[in-house]
Amino acid sequence: SDHALDYPASPDAVDWATHYPAFAASGQTPAFADVGCGFGGLLIALAPLYPDTLMLGASSCRTWCLEIRVQVSQYVEDRIAALRATCAAAAAAAPGASQTDALAADDPAVSSTAAGGYQNVSIVRANAMKFLPNYFPKHSLSALFFLFPDPHFKIRKHKARIISPTLLAEYAYVLRPGGIVYTITDVRDLHDWMRTHLAEFPLFEPVEEADLRAEGKGPILDAVWNSTEEGKKVERNKGDKWLACFRRIEVPREE
Ligand code: SAM
Repeated sequence: SDHALDYPASPDAVDWATHYPAFAASGQTPAFADVGCGFGGLLIALAPLYPDTLMLGASSCRTWCLEIRVQVSQYVEDRIAALRATCAAAAAAAPGASQTDALAADDPAVSSTAAGGYQNVSIVRANAMKFLPNYFPKHSLSALFFLFPDPHFKIRKHKARIISPTLLAEYAYVLRPGGIVYTITDVRDLHDWMRTHLAEFPLFEPVEEADLRAEGKGPILDAVWNSTEEGKKVERNKGDKWLACFRRIEVPREE
């Protein structure tokens, strides 16, 4: 239940410096948001790949996980704090040296590089079906992820699905034109549901994986396919995965 959660009145009221102390002076808000991040595998994989690069526009890449479950969000918070501490210690011990070995021992999700020391990833416990615009300014996100969302199989439960016509208007509001919605699931019915609703919404258009890869978004897609804890479970069980991506367009499509 989320009745005890406090929400900021607006993005201006979010204390971004607490979340991203290394960037406190920049005043920038996140560019990537992982909705229902679970144990945080996606953004922990992506954070070192985009430590402070200019991505899809003018903003450097703050990443942000939203997760509703208390223990799970606490786990991600602790995981990020531990990664930051390990990086800081490694940097202090061997300035300029690679932090890879120290990190790989602590967290198997970390393999090739720890550039940026995980200063650009953070988590908030929040119900993403409410108040998303309280966190993200209009047109601020370049990527929004819905990876293996809860399927809510029963028809009377479909309104609890994280992709729905009402919520799509909020997602379009926080995404900048050109921004991408990434969805992936192992549940065929949910895949069809997400794809259909996104395709019907006038501010989104489908985009092929190959086109996104041609635009340089391959590392993001690889992480979407392979780096989340739920995705790894599906992999172990040899389940199918269905991906669907949509671009937030500037001018609504004609009906
Ligand atoms: N994306 C992760 C992955 O691929 O490993 C987790 C997938 S898990 C099946 C779905 C997650 O979404 C759960 O951790 C659940 O607590 C979270 N969740 C469900 N509804 C949510 C909501 N309204 N706001 C935020 N998180 C939510």
